Amino acid sequence: MGSCYGKRSQSDYGTQNIDNQPETDNSSPQKFQHIDEQACLGNLIITNEKVGLITKDYTLLNPPLGSGAYGEVRKAIHKSTNMMRAVKIIHKAQTSMEEQERLMNEVKILQKLDHPNIIKIHEFYQDESFFYIVTELCTGGDLFDKLSQEGSLSEKKAAEIMKQILSAINYCHNEKIVHRDLKPENLLYESDKENSMLKIIDFGTSKEFVPKQKLNQKLGITTYIAPEVLKRKYDEKCDIWSCGVILYILLCGYPPFDARSEGRIMEKVSKGVYSFDSQEWEEVTKEAKEFVRKMLQFEPNKRINAQQALNDPWIKRFTNPTEFDRPLMTEVLTNMRKFTKQQKLQEAVFKFIVVQLATKEEKAELLKIFQCLDTNQDGKLSKQELLVGYSKVMKPIEAAEEVNCIFQQVDKNNSGSIDYTEFVVATIDRQQLLSKQRLQVTFHMFDKDKSGSITIDELKEIFSGIPEEMWKQVVQDFDSNSDGQISLEEFFAMMKKID
Ligand code: AMP
Repeated sequence: MGSCYGKRSQSDYGTQNIDNQPETDNSSPQKFQHIDEQACLGNLIITNEKVGLITKDYTLLNPPLGSGAYGEVRKAIHKSTNMMRAVKIIHKAQTSMEEQERLMNEVKILQKLDHPNIIKIHEFYQDESFFYIVTELCTGGDLFDKLSQEGSLSEKKAAEIMKQILSAINYCHNEKIVHRDLKPENLLYESDKENSMLKIIDFGTSKEFVPKQKLNQKLGITTYIAPEVLKRKYDEKCDIWSCGVILYILLCGYPPFDARSEGRIMEKVSKGVYSFDSQEWEEVTKEAKEFVRKMLQFEPNKRINAQQALNDPWIKRFTNPTEFDRPLMTEVLTNMRKFTKQQKLQEAVFKFIVVQLATKEEKAELLKIFQCLDTNQDGKLSKQELLVGYSKVMKPIEAAEEVNCIFQQVDKNNSGSIDYTEFVVATIDRQQLLSKQRLQVTFHMFDKDKSGSITIDELKEIFSGIPEEMWKQVVQDFDSNSDGQISLEEFFAMMKKID
């Protein structure tokens, strides 16, 4: 069947605030916040704001991966590691203050989020004319392309896709972030492999929300917009509506609310009436239609939430639970037990390597175990979930002791649960990760002025927000020749202690 799924929606900056009214809720406005605040040791994602030319660290490639009113997104090679990344480039002169604030909002929110189905930010630069957001690169195209090629998808494929989107949205909503612009163009495949993961991109219009306080800015693309957003009184459930629209399209190949003009689409959305009458729906199961109905429920209060959606019978029927692989689980949980308190600098460097330099392949198996342990699929591991996991490979009493101990060591940001990156840091094969070659690359990334040693100033620039006194102490601990700096040999010696 051919797709009548329609045209690509325009890109974000400048086009999505469909009535150009700023948000008038009473939360604090997004000012130009210095993002370094967050790039401290306690925070797992180390993102630096860098002032100056991005081209000293990255080679920007042509042609652009995508573009919009704000500028473009280009593929780039990170010079010191040869890692490929994506760089969103925003022309300062061509964007309004409001659009620039939206960009800063995107950076701030991406820094906070840590989920396998959400794009990861690596760095943020600005020079006189441009802002640059460096993120992981997705090479498999977007869900829009997939739909354009295939028309509609089997229920199994559609369910695998929805499970990933809902898992990320469940995580966002628990973190009190609403995306507000979910659509197939913002769902990218990590690679072109058959089972490649989806990643949600474009958090430019997302927002931190306060439970029970309504939002009022009209944002999004009409095809996916929830009726309550048109009335300017809505909450995070608007994302579930968009998920319902996406699923409808996945199953039949065309949108539930469609017309020739934007105005007519909005009219249809505001009534919320759609049907399963056409031929494309004949073969679709009752459970699938019921699930679409629950997400396209007109009343947000009666609409299911992301957690309930993940537990829906249709999702359960058409997706495979993550397989329990005993040997791998035992190995991973043993690694976690061995994860002992490191010296601050070792720990920071280790996190830096995991976040910036570990490959997707190195993390792939850990992701499977993480998903297996994360039974409520909120993108984090609670004590109870970890206890269930450990109880599968050891006696319950031992498991309880282990889990208490592990939580103290691994939950570095004291969130009461273990985040995805915390889990990867604690369980990854350290020997493989800390190869001599990778340590050398890390050392040269830290040694900005290429002097052959790392100074306190260089450390401060990378892990900003840490008091000078602490760095002095850290450097003293490993500076065997007492020159106040860390040489490559001293750096190797320090990191060797991690094994
Ligand atoms: P955005 O402004 O974030 O919506 O991005 C515009 C377009 O650039 C997207 O529709 C994608 O085609 C492409 N793009 C954005 N981020 C990435 C990424 N991380 N990897 C690959 N392509 C991307």
